[in-house]
Parts: sequence; structure tokens; C-alpha cells
Amino acid sequence: MKYEFPVTKTTAPKTKPDAKGLRFGTVFTDHMFVMDYNEKDGWNNGRIVPYGPITLDPAAVVLHYGQEMFEGLKAYKTAAGRVQLFRPDMNAKRTNNTNDRLCIPKVDEELFVDAIKALVKIDQDWIPEGEGTALYIRPFIFGDEAFLGVRKSATYKFMIILSPVGPYFENGLAPTKMYVEDVYVRAVKGGTGEAKCGGNYGGSLKAQEIAHEKGFEQILWLDAYEQKYIEEIGAANAFFVIGDEIVTSALNGSILPGITRNSIIALCKKKGYKISERKISIDELENAYHAGQLKEMFASGTAAIVSPVGELLYKGEDMVINDNKIGPVAQEMYDTIYGIQTGKMDDFMGWTVPV
Ligand code: PMP
Repeated sequence: MKYEFPVTKTTAPKTKPDAKGLRFGTVFTDHMFVMDYNEKDGWNNGRIVPYGPITLDPAAVVLHYGQEMFEGLKAYKTAAGRVQLFRPDMNAKRTNNTNDRLCIPKVDEELFVDAIKALVKIDQDWIPEGEGTALYIRPFIFGDEAFLGVRKSATYKFMIILSPVGPYFENGLAPTKMYVEDVYVRAVKGGTGEAKCGGNYGGSLKAQEIAHEKGFEQILWLDAYEQKYIEEIGAANAFFVIGDEIVTSALNGSILPGITRNSIIALCKKKGYKISERKISIDELENAYHAGQLKEMFASGTAAIVSPVGELLYKGEDMVINDNKIGPVAQEMYDTIYGIQTGKMDDFMGWTVPV
């Protein structure tokens, strides 16, 4: 490791939760990483301290204008006891792309990964063991200058917190019900859709809430202009198997470039599958469904890796996909990625990084 950080250990370690029944993002470990930024010193004073509340000036820029970004990745413990991360360099790169869009100062990508490694090492006993469990890592950066004018903050905090997690969806890999959102939109051209900033999520809650009330777990976002082309899913990218083609929407500036998405594309290429990144319209999907060609649909993201979609509701029509069962492509992608992440499968893609 190039970077090392001073550590203040907690004097009151918490009781670790039972891995069974762990929900997503409810429990936090004993320590956190904090680093400061000011214009004179740049990023400085990276440190690991006991997990706990922080103080913030009520005029902090983040509270008023949302100058904030976050990331998400996971650490796993293999049967041999090796602690490893999955493609953290990709999260470091995406952080700086987001930072650029939000006028947040860039972070040295090696420092980003070293800070994660240092924190995970300290709290490695919190990594749960059991199918579908992992230690979720949440890096985030926000402007904390006390100033009410609308401009970028002069000071920032970069923090990392850790949360032992179970499967993202309570019913694991069971297919979910999805609703095609045709009122609200998530992102526009030239907006912040491809950045991982809190505002994108705050703005999506209303549609998510309505979908939940109607009994759907997730929403499928369409483009903001014609509401015709598929963009992505709640907090995941969308994949379809149409005939013998595996399709995902091409990155267009308003879609978040998922690391799981990138991994699935790379795996499909490696395995010689027909995989396309292209525009795909909801009409094409409907036609494929009626022609019996829509074989699978699944969401991809760090939280669940792959989440099959069993039912898709669009303008009153309920499309039942693959008899509401997980399909072979989704299953293979899950088994391969989870296998590599947990060391159950040889890392033939060179994606894991030891802590
Ligand atoms: N789209 C959105 C909007 C997301 O929040 C996420 C989760 N980070 C993804 C896609 C999937 O990205 P990844 O595979 O990197 O988790």
C-alpha cells in the first residue's frame, strides 16, 4: 500500500449481528475513514476513527445545494480466509467522473483504494459469512463549507463507512415485479444521470414510492424525451435476453455506468455470447414478448449482483417473463460473479484485489 492512515481504535466495540436475517444497510461497523479537503492543503488528514455521528454547520453547502457523491462496493471473505474487494479501481474511477460533474476535487485513485483496504482490514471481523452476505462499503464525499451562496464548497469531507449486509432483496434471487415508469423520469441529457450523486436518488423516491404502493419492487426508467427507450432500473442496470442476443442499453450520458454491468458485458464477451450495448425501446421489448422471444430480463448492480425480473407491467399489460423463474443467463452471471467475489471460483478475469 502506498498510503497509510493513523488509527484511533474504538474503546466500545459493538456486538456483531447474526448473519442470518441481516438486512441491507442497517448495521454499521466499529470504525470509519475520514479525510478533509481545503483549498490550501488539498486532501489531507486521512484517518480511521471510531464510527459515530459527525457535526456539520447548519449552513454546510451539502445541506442546501446537494454537493455530494457516493459509491458502493463490497468486501468478501473466502473459505481460505482471504479478504478481497471486487474491482475497487472501477469505483475509484467512477468517483472521479462523478466528482468532475459535481465540482468536487478529485481524489487520488490509489488513495481511494488504500483507504478502503485500511478500513476493511481493521473491521474485517465484521465480514459476515453465508450465502449472499458481504461487507458493503460506502465511500462518500460532501461539501461542508458554511456558505449560503450557490457555488462549489471550498471544503469537503471524504468518508467511508462499512455495513455487513445480507441479500439485497429479502427473497434472494426470486424474480421481482417491475413497473415501467411513464410519468416521472430519472435523468436528462446533460444532467447528472451518469454521476453517482445523492440528488439522483432523492429525485427518484416519489416514483419508487408509488411503485411500492402498487405492489412492485422496482421501476424501469425510460428516456426523458419520448419515454420510449429503456434507460435503467431503480438502482441497477437492465439486461434482456431477446432470442439469442443479450442486450443492455448503451451508455448515453443519463445512465449510470454500473460496474456489475461492465463485468457482465466482459464475461459475455469472454464466453463468446452475443452481447449488444444498444438502444432498446419499450416497444421492441413488447414485440419480442408477444413473439415469444423475450427470454429473460434482469437487473444488475453491486447490491444484488443480478436480480431477475419475473413480471413487467407496461400500460396495463402484465408481461410474465420466463414463467416468473430465474433464467439461465442471469443464473450463470450470478454464479460466476458471486463465485469470483467469494473465491469459490477461480478469478479468471483478474478482478479481485486482496485487502
Ligand atoms: N444504476 C444506478 C442508478 C445505481 O444506483 C446502481 C448502483 N450503484 C447501478 C446502476 C449499478 O451499478 P453497480 O453495478 O456499479 O453497482
